[in-house]
Amino acid sequence: MTAKIYYDNDADLSHLKGKTVAILGYGSQGHAQAQNLRDSGCQVIIGQREGSPNYDLAVSHKFQPMPVADAVKASDVVNILLPDEVQGDIFREHIRPNLKPGNVLMCSHGFNIHFGQVEPPKGVDVLLVAPKGPGHLVRSEYVKGGGVPCLIALGEGASDKTRQIGLAYAKGIGGTRGGVIETTIAEETETDLFGEQVVLCGGVSELVKAAFETLVDAGYQPEMAYFECMHELKLIVDLFYQGGLSYMRYSVSNTAEYGDYTRGPRIITDETRKVMKQILTEIQNGQFAREWILENRAGAPAFKATRRRDRNLEIEHVGRRLRKLMSWIDSKEV
Ligand code: NDP
Ligand code: MG
Repeated sequence: MTAKIYYDNDADLSHLKGKTVAILGYGSQGHAQAQNLRDSGCQVIIGQREGSPNYDLAVSHKFQPMPVADAVKASDVVNILLPDEVQGDIFREHIRPNLKPGNVLMCSHGFNIHFGQVEPPKGVDVLLVAPKGPGHLVRSEYVKGGGVPCLIALGEGASDKTRQIGLAYAKGIGGTRGGVIETTIAEETETDLFGEQVVLCGGVSELVKAAFETLVDAGYQPEMAYFECMHELKLIVDLFYQGGLSYMRYSVSNTAEYGDYTRGPRIITDETRKVMKQILTEIQNGQFAREWILENRAGAPAFKATRRRDRNLEIEHVGRRLRKLMSWIDSKEV
């Protein structure tokens, strides 16, 4: 089954005419979506707590940020662009009591809707418009006249009018220039979590760590291990990005390609695929969500401990030193 994709001609900005859109949170997505919408002629207000750099950023962009509750009261369409782990509490305390029937409640990731942390009152439709890229790209592509592709999904029972509002919103942030793919909140949430756990964050990080440690344990110099197992990953990923597996394999040496075909399947085995399936089940049945929500409720002790431990891995120390030698890298420290 191929996805339904909407473009500029399928979307009409007039569905947002006369409506005020509140963007809650002026972070990565908030700052980009708010400015794009405003530049597209929409009425936008910002809900952002005071005393943070994001508040000052909104002011420097000529917005007048206000407390979240006030922004909800003053708007028709409310987009929650706060970190996922704080959305439930802020929703219950500041957002839900101020929603009115006919309002549309939006998000850019379905986690809290799908797992019941954000439960809209009766008469409020839920709508997801999720750019498939980080906020700075959503902004820079829009300014260049392009747009980052988006996903659109409707909450249970949402009307077709809400879909029209969603397409107008996607057009306002530049999404229909790239293409807007129709999905469901469940599909967006589950595939997003699966991708980040199995490949993008979890899978890749563990693969790199394990390979680095294997070389170092075997007596090779850590600097060599860093270059081979982490640094060069970017070259390969860039080739994937431009032309998929085939282009990567066309670009590397035949020796590398042969090693890929014969050794790759020994790393990702039937056992690994079985675990992938288990991880997917834990996402689908809410086990992962419950774990993450409870972890946050406890003040995130395991999360913080692991973060601290991994920041001190040898690969991190070696990498920090080596990146200083490569002046073309826009190297970052956390
Ligand atoms: P950020 O962390 O960049 O920004 C969060 C915003 O919320 C900031 O303005 C922050 O302000 C504010 N905030 C944080 N904590 C609180 C709090 N306790 N009370 C009030 N305000 C708070 O978030 P993102 O833009 O990355 O994510 C927003 C949503 O977009 C999430 O649902 C995410 O899944 C989704 N998304 C993100 C993408 C991305 O690439 N980043 C891509 C697609 C979707 P302050 O400075 O005061 O902390
Ligand atoms: Mg994702």
